[in-house]
Amino acid sequence: MKNLKGEAHGRESNMKKEEYEPKCMALGCEFRGELMKFIPWNKNEKEHEDYAMYYCKKHFISSYAKDQESLNTFLEYYKDSMKREWLPPKSLELYNKYSNK
Ligand SMILES: [Zn+2]
Repeated sequence: MKNLKGEAHGRESNMKKEEYEPKCMALGCEFRGELMKFIPWNKNEKEHEDYAMYYCKKHFISSYAKDQESLNTFLEYYKDSMKREWLPPKSLELYNKYSNK
């Protein structure tokens, strides 16, 4: 939550501290309150904190659906082992991780 708070503070520095509640990071969403942490499928454990997004339930669900779609596209495309030869090691690792599921 460290990054989120820092960012929100800069954006809304005119707000009183006690009124502060984390805001959904989805564009145009004004929801404040309890948020769900979202991490894209292509980010590894070490990068989690930097890439984590905080969403309201509605935007968490839609982001998760989009994320799964992009994962499926990725897996579908690299099903061909010839294409996988061009993948950087990190991406290949991800391919192996998700295709074995
Ligand atoms: Zn939202």
